[in-house]
Amino acid sequence: MLFHELTDSLEHLPGVGPKRAALLTRLGLRTVADLLALLPRRYEDRSRVVTLVEAAAHGEGVVHVTVIDHEHFLRGRQKTLKLVIQDESSTGSLVCFGRNFLARTFPVGSEIAVFGQFTLRYGEIQASSFEAEHRRPDASRATPPILPVYPLTEGIGQAHLRDAVAHALQSYTPDLEDELPDRLRAAEQLLPLAEALQGLHFPATMEEPARALRRLVWGELFTFQLRLAQDAHRRRRRTRRARPAPFRSVVDLVLQKLPFELTPDQSRVLTEILTDMDQPWPMARLLQGDVGSGKTLVALVAALSAIERGQQVALMVPTELLARQHARNIGSLLSDTGVHPALVLGSMPTSARRHVTAALADGEIDVVIGTHALFAEGLIYANLGLVIIDEQHRFGVGQRERLQARGHAPDLLMMSATPIPRSLALTAFGDSEVSTIEHLPPGRKPIKTHLARMGNDARVYAFVRKELDAGRQAYLVYPAIDEGGARGFRSAEEMHRRLQREFAPYQVGLAHSRIDDDTRAATMEAFARGEIHALVATSVVEVGVDVPNATCMVIEHAEVFGLAALHQLRGRVGRGAAQSYCLLVYQEPLTDDAQERLKVMYESSDGFFIAEEDLRIRGPGELQGSRQSGFLEFRFADIREHMSEMIAARTHVARVLQEDPELQQPEHQSLNRAVTALREESTDEN
Ligand code: ADP
Ligand code: MG
Repeated sequence: MLFHELTDSLEHLPGVGPKRAALLTRLGLRTVADLLALLPRRYEDRSRVVTLVEAAAHGEGVVHVTVIDHEHFLRGRQKTLKLVIQDESSTGSLVCFGRNFLARTFPVGSEIAVFGQFTLRYGEIQASSFEAEHRRPDASRATPPILPVYPLTEGIGQAHLRDAVAHALQSYTPDLEDELPDRLRAAEQLLPLAEALQGLHFPATMEEPARALRRLVWGELFTFQLRLAQDAHRRRRRTRRARPAPFRSVVDLVLQKLPFELTPDQSRVLTEILTDMDQPWPMARLLQGDVGSGKTLVALVAALSAIERGQQVALMVPTELLARQHARNIGSLLSDTGVHPALVLGSMPTSARRHVTAALADGEIDVVIGTHALFAEGLIYANLGLVIIDEQHRFGVGQRERLQARGHAPDLLMMSATPIPRSLALTAFGDSEVSTIEHLPPGRKPIKTHLARMGNDARVYAFVRKELDAGRQAYLVYPAIDEGGARGFRSAEEMHRRLQREFAPYQVGLAHSRIDDDTRAATMEAFARGEIHALVATSVVEVGVDVPNATCMVIEHAEVFGLAALHQLRGRVGRGAAQSYCLLVYQEPLTDDAQERLKVMYESSDGFFIAEEDLRIRGPGELQGSRQSGFLEFRFADIREHMSEMIAARTHVARVLQEDPELQQPEHQSLNRAVTALREESTDEN
């Protein structure tokens, strides 16, 4: 069996049972694999015996002592035993709350080994939290010298977990297969899997856990990288029909219509994309660029290039709002070009839908823009050649693949405004190429960011009013929809009522996810036309909305938003020629993390820097834009710490795939199963 195949439920482990198994789920432990992957928080080294005086100074330790007396304190049912103990350094006492039976276990004169938390109290060295045993000459029966200390939950003590883990190791490791090939293990000096698990939980020395963890991290990173590389390898071997090279006439027509030129960055990434599209295998490319860097235009040119090759294009976006915005912009650029765009939304009336469905199947529609409705059942594409996914981190691998499956090995262009930290781009997207727009279009003034404590509202709103008086527009964003929202936060509903009075006679609109799509779309469009002056919203405005006249972004309770969201929100302004502002209004007290996030936002507007900081503060599990990439949620690895292992793993991956691309050789059988399982897991996620 492989590690991920240890899916037996914990209730059948000796000493666990249904009740304790239920408690263990609170620690996220359901299967034997979960239990064996539970990382000890630290280890207690009981191999080193100290004196009582040293143990008290250090707060904890193993002592070898003699029981010299039994004393009692308190009365009646609370009567409590104290074992008076002594070694060569001092006397002390073990306070036996609820454990008066220890008087029988350790009569006066017993020689005992005690591990305890010792403190100096009332002039006496005491421990009330301790474990004691007779000093046995028979070493084999004594507890192991180094013990793991696990995170606990109510009803589950260290002893329960240690016991369960010991049983699991005993029952399951003998049949455990190692997925790593022997050659790799030898080259990198990695422990065998079973030894690594043993060493992680019950190490023989204090150095062993680090070596054990290294083996487990390698196992994860290597299979992860192998999966990505194998996908890329397979993709390159898929061929498709030759496609006529495009004429570029439509592209030129559209570019001429623009009031600006493509930036050098836009031109460069376009060349990268178009070169890919000329290859005989399907493209898989991630286009990343900060909010407002002009990715839409790049995508449009790529789309036109596909259309000129006689193919259809699907542009998938996460919200109907964004789909409508794209359809509007793209529609106006495409007028008089002979290219037919269409919009497909889940909320579309049946008759309109039937019409689009037919036109798409006939190939009358060239580019279709929509939400996940784009891969709805019954939607047939005559010749889908390019799939573009905007804000791709909002979609799972499964959704993406379902849309791709509507074509015959179509090109794939993913776009993200949540930059993948440079350190990750290389590795997490190992199965795709990455194109990056580094610089924003010219003429943008950097957004000025201000921090304000809640309670200084009057000044914040006066500031907003000044912008409105100057003919500009503002967003005001809240973490909650209404007063029912958590923790007494200001909410969009409540503030909408208040701000309508505050900003009268200006029009104040409201947008959040519980407002029906048509009303919300109407509000957004009115805001885009300048008929609504201030928009009160939740983070629904986070993604993609483009209103260049909006110069002011107020985020209240900024302390509860993540860095990626804050950066995205701030990117809604600063899109025109006028100076823009972002006001981060926070409520005290701030957690350390919140304080760091606000500091990062105040000091930087560089999306890449912010993404790196986000990674540092929150860890990769939470990182937006990484989840879909085939999982950076590892059991053992933390890519912040294990980047060098990740890179080293790539080298080995390349070697293995060169010799045995489909992992058919006998020594790669376990590896093949592990990689296949990993692939299935990440595709099932949606
Ligand atoms: P994002 O990368 O966030 O999707 P958009 O594609 O929405 O950014 O572009 C942001 C704004 O920049 C749009 O208003 C767009 O018209 C404008 N824009 C795009 N390319 C250029 C350019 N080369 N020069 C000037 N403005 C541009
Ligand atoms: Mg965009």
